Amino acid sequence: MIIVMKPNASMEAINNVVSFVQSQGLDTHLSHGHEVTIIGVVGDKTVLADKNLEIKEGVDRIVAVTESYKLANKKFHPEPTVVKVGNANIGGNNLVIMSGPCAVESADQVLETAIAIKKAGAQILRGGAYKPRTSPYSFQGMEEDGLRLMKEAKDATGLPVVCEVTSLAAVEAAVKYVDMLQIGARNMQNFFLLKEVGKTGLPVLLKRGLSATIDEWLNAAEYILAEGNPNVVLCERGIRTFETATRNTLDLAAVPVIRQKSHLPIIVDPSHATGVRDYVKPLAFASVAAGADGLMIETHPCPEKALSDGPQSLTFAQFEELCDTLRPLSAMMGKPLL
Ligand code: PEP
Ligand code: MN
Repeated sequence: MIIVMKPNASMEAINNVVSFVQSQGLDTHLSHGHEVTIIGVVGDKTVLADKNLEIKEGVDRIVAVTESYKLANKKFHPEPTVVKVGNANIGGNNLVIMSGPCAVESADQVLETAIAIKKAGAQILRGGAYKPRTSPYSFQGMEEDGLRLMKEAKDATGLPVVCEVTSLAAVEAAVKYVDMLQIGARNMQNFFLLKEVGKTGLPVLLKRGLSATIDEWLNAAEYILAEGNPNVVLCERGIRTFETATRNTLDLAAVPVIRQKSHLPIIVDPSHATGVRDYVKPLAFASVAAGADGLMIETHPCPEKALSDGPQSLTFAQFEELCDTLRPLSAMMGKPLL
């Protein structure tokens, strides 16, 4: 529990609150900031339940710290975190769009995509080399060859790249080629893998699990942060509900909720959230309006021939149109698209 004192609270008022809390058998930790003093309270706080602390002189508010995640918690880190990936600053003053195919399929496909999305306004190239497919008979990805093609596209265009990793072997390979590691929805609670990506120190894009609560998601982020890696970006990508008209249900409330609970940047992936190309644009707009720091959008040179997720992938023309029409809204939200 934290007692936040008013900016003009006198030393006497602060000392009175401290003495009172200590008289109840609890420990206090004082932190004098530039503007306010914060009193941390440690011990069995139930003894304070009926003591009306909030109306004592000089007290502004009482904040409960019950969450098990600390490093991801805004209460312990009020400043927003900005994660740098190449020249893109996620959580900074610009909307950052990551785009590219669901799966890397060939050198031409990735390079053509990188050139097209960069021209439209994307700052990061995405592409899966290890694909966690629902069916073991579906295309599983090009693995290290796919990572190499992503690196070649990066070298040709200057776009940093993000690729999903699904195992320790994939992490060991990916660190040689990519700028950001992605933990997919299906691995959000693979705690061993979270620790391994944490140890690399590379920026990590942590997607929300299919049935994960926001609390579980932030605890997953905590695993990465606890390894000494502060570069975590959260990605809302839809959750499982009773609704079947879309692949998942996009939980847009996650954006303001995360904003309130954590300092970590949050982006939205309307492609995997809906599974339907026609719904990507409206939900991309809604995500930006909700305050997202960025978007992940799947694109493909020829979606009908895609080896994975063709029905939700945009053509380059559709992607360019999306970026162009999004510009006024992103500027209005204070995060213009470069
Ligand atoms: C992906 O981004 O390629 C992907 C598989 O997404 P998710 O983990 O959100 O399903
Ligand atoms: Mn996909």
